Amino acid sequence: MTEKEIDSKAEKLTAVKGMNDILPPDSARWEWLEDQVRSLMGRYAYRNIRTPIVEPTALFVRGTGETTDIVEKEMYSFADKLNGEELTLRPENTPGVVRAAIQHNLTYDGGKRLYYMGPMFRHERPQRGRYRQFYQLGAEALGFAGPEVDAELMLLVHELFAAFGLRNVRVELNSLGVAAERRAHRSALIAYFEQHLELLDADSQRRLHMNPLRILDTKNPAMQALVQQAPQLLDYLGPDSLQHFDTVKTLLSACGVNWSVNPRLVRGLDYYSHTVFEFVTDELGAQGTLCGGGRYDGLFALLGGKPTPAVGWGMGLERVLELIKQQGETPAAPVPNAYAVIPDAVALPRAMQAVQTLRGAGVSVQMHAAVTAGADSMKTQFKKADASGAAYALVFGSDELAENAVTVKALREGGAAQRRESLSDIVKWASTLQSRT
Ligand code: ATP
Ligand code: MG
Repeated sequence: MTEKEIDSKAEKLTAVKGMNDILPPDSARWEWLEDQVRSLMGRYAYRNIRTPIVEPTALFVRGTGETTDIVEKEMYSFADKLNGEELTLRPENTPGVVRAAIQHNLTYDGGKRLYYMGPMFRHERPQRGRYRQFYQLGAEALGFAGPEVDAELMLLVHELFAAFGLRNVRVELNSLGVAAERRAHRSALIAYFEQHLELLDADSQRRLHMNPLRILDTKNPAMQALVQQAPQLLDYLGPDSLQHFDTVKTLLSACGVNWSVNPRLVRGLDYYSHTVFEFVTDELGAQGTLCGGGRYDGLFALLGGKPTPAVGWGMGLERVLELIKQQGETPAAPVPNAYAVIPDAVALPRAMQAVQTLRGAGVSVQMHAAVTAGADSMKTQFKKADASGAAYALVFGSDELAENAVTVKALREGGAAQRRESLSDIVKWASTLQSRT
């Protein structure tokens, strides 16, 4: 087959359903957000951790929980073609972080405060705010038992949202107490639902004896009245758990975070304890949970480590960016400082050299390409310069180069028309290109 024949037969490939390309200029919003995150994490003394995207499937079966939606139906799992090992693309990163902490004995000399950012994978029905590859930012504080760290972590989310310029985000809190308290509540819950079996949907009947707490989480409108009346875990908490919860609330209020208690906020897994929380908006429809987290004091032991208290949260970045966009806080798209206009291929070596020196001095320069393939007219090049958003055009014409100089032309309104600068002392005038005209 000739190259042409191959071309005409090749089928176009597209991205996997529910997995998105993030393209410029949109990607600049992501970079802006990531910059804000790194800066704030640094100020809270949280350090970056990067764990693999692929982990043993068993990590999530144990660490996320066999009875969760994630493990029951959302994981991308496969057998390694070479050795048959059961592997999974991470659907969340807390189990990976805890695995790494155990494997490297991270908490041997005290607590560790960590954060991560990266793609997660869940096989869900794609819709706005719900994708099959999505990005999560997460923070985990390992080895701290006190309620002040629960509050610190929530404060961190609060401050992040402030840095993003977000408004109208609610903070909902609950406490799951400790295992014995949950057991007592669980019995009461099962007894209650057993009295109303005919009102339970199929999913909930299946969960009744496996994971009744999850029923409280149901989104089925027909069951709302039933779960509203169900026994509340808060009523089963002893004095220590209540004190932990009260301290969290007091500290949040002291730091200016408005919260409300949502007694139906649960995590249906036994390694969760004490504080659980969500940051929620009403402005994104059904996908309004921006961030969810809680204390998971039992997870280290479940994954084979020494019992270690821990607390953390995960945040969906697509949802956060969508809300930022919707609330009109989009950062300006980046533009180069200058655009190099190169009328003739002969000018290329010296033009590229000069542009390189400018970049070295911190100036962002976009070079006109396609010179060698037949020079574009000055008119075309200036049109491109204008469209690039640059404040200045740098003209490397033959007259200029004969004098070892370049013409600097202001492109934006109100700028001084143009001037000549010498190529022998570029660093002296480079910084003048960094201010708008
Ligand atoms: P939901 O109830 O919306 O399915 P979840 O309880 O599964 O959320 P977590 O496992 O707590 O979510 O993940 C933390 C955050 O990650 C969520 O609050 C949400 O912002 C985001 N998130 C979860 N699943 C997706 C997804 N499929 N696409 C985009 N973001 C997601
Ligand atoms: Mg989910």
